[in-house]
Amino acid sequence: MRLSRYFLPVLKETPSEAQIVSHRYMLRAGMIKQQAAGIYSWLPLGYKVLKRIEQIVHEEQARAGHIPLLMPTLQPADLWRESGRYDDYGDEMLRIKDRGGRDLLYGPTNEEMITDIFRSNVSSYKDLPLTLYHIQWKFRDEMRPRFGVMRGREFLMKDGYNFDIDKDAAIHAYNRHMVSYLRTYERMGLKAIPMRADSGPIGGEDTHEFLVLADTGESEVFYDSAILDLNFGGRSVDYDNREACAEIVTEWTTPYARTDETHDAALFDAIPEERRKTSRGIEVGQIFYFGTKYSDPMGATVVTPSGEKTPVHMGSHGIGVSRLLGAIIEASHDDKGIIWPEGVTPFHCGIVNLRQGDDEADAACLALYQSLTALGLEPLYDDRDERAGAKFATMDLIGLPWRITVGPRGLKNGVVELTSRRTGESVEMTPAMAVAKVAEIYAGI
Ligand code: ATP
Ligand code: MG
Repeated sequence: MRLSRYFLPVLKETPSEAQIVSHRYMLRAGMIKQQAAGIYSWLPLGYKVLKRIEQIVHEEQARAGHIPLLMPTLQPADLWRESGRYDDYGDEMLRIKDRGGRDLLYGPTNEEMITDIFRSNVSSYKDLPLTLYHIQWKFRDEMRPRFGVMRGREFLMKDGYNFDIDKDAAIHAYNRHMVSYLRTYERMGLKAIPMRADSGPIGGEDTHEFLVLADTGESEVFYDSAILDLNFGGRSVDYDNREACAEIVTEWTTPYARTDETHDAALFDAIPEERRKTSRGIEVGQIFYFGTKYSDPMGATVVTPSGEKTPVHMGSHGIGVSRLLGAIIEASHDDKGIIWPEGVTPFHCGIVNLRQGDDEADAACLALYQSLTALGLEPLYDDRDERAGAKFATMDLIGLPWRITVGPRGLKNGVVELTSRRTGESVEMTPAMAVAKVAEIYAGI
């Protein structure tokens, strides 16, 4: 993309309404625009990151054997009357009437609807196990929408639902989700710690939240610092292997890590003092096992091998896709702007032309642009007629992890400069080497 032809409405001033850094940078970098409290338009740069995050979620769900579908945002109230949640959910639910006076709601989550899809189509144990998920907009009329996309009213969520024959099988689905989530967050450059949590309005017996440590997080968390040493890394997992998944879950849930809702001071105090940590955290996902809470009242049953009808065991599993943008920025920024991890960056690298209009510099930039594009990479070429300082400031603000700087002086010696946004380190090299280096960086991502 050439910046002169893109739509990147960068703000010079710091917006006064934004209290936390991720919100400030998302507004300043022209990623989002607020349309009403907690409701945002996703401008091109923000939309691009949102799509990258979605893509990672889809890829990791596919790896775990989970199947995507798409349910509507509007749901009939009658489904929620069956589970009893229509009255229980409270003011967070946006209730709507259509022209025929029928009660609808804008879905805050989809347990009822997916259970309805299941019961209409599945009746035999032979069709199990089954995990369906979608990435869809949700609406919750939050009392205090704030911090930009962090606590929106309309927000994008990945929500998945497993259907299993019994508790053991459903616990395997739970474990599979935990493993796939660990991989998902790591690919986004995040350390998200699974913490034992409280089940809230979803209900159920077993639940973990995934938290990214950040001072601006809304949750208070307590953990054993040993958990920070755990890395998922490139290990490959057989998601059908119950023991293998359970082992990984044990590895991540053995060190103490809880939110204030489930915090146990006695257990915490048993950790060696130097490893006892208290901090704030951003909830970026949550998984639940809730057994037959929905299948029972809604009649989602299967016939077992011995011929009996039994309600299926279920769980639901959510990732805060739009909140993740805020969480990633909170975890990765400096005083100049965002620093995108390579896994989610909107463009793979920037190209800054220090002397727009200089024939040689223009030609070198164009050649770099074409070589990178030919390799399947997406560069953002700042071809505006601007001062170098302004171009650098924009690149730093929008946070592309790599920048290639091209100027007449370097070109005389046949070199350009490759700069890491994270370390600020610059290395001179030939344009061909810069292209090869950027390609190498992204090869494993
Ligand atoms: P919270 O405690 O933050 O209100 P929740 O526990 O009610 O969230 P879940 O039902 O677990 O939310 O939804 C799954 C994920 O969706 C959460 O882990 C979070 O990342 C994201 N999410 C929930 N509410 C919002 C919101 N208002 N804005 C943005 N993301 C949200
Ligand atoms: Mg939650």
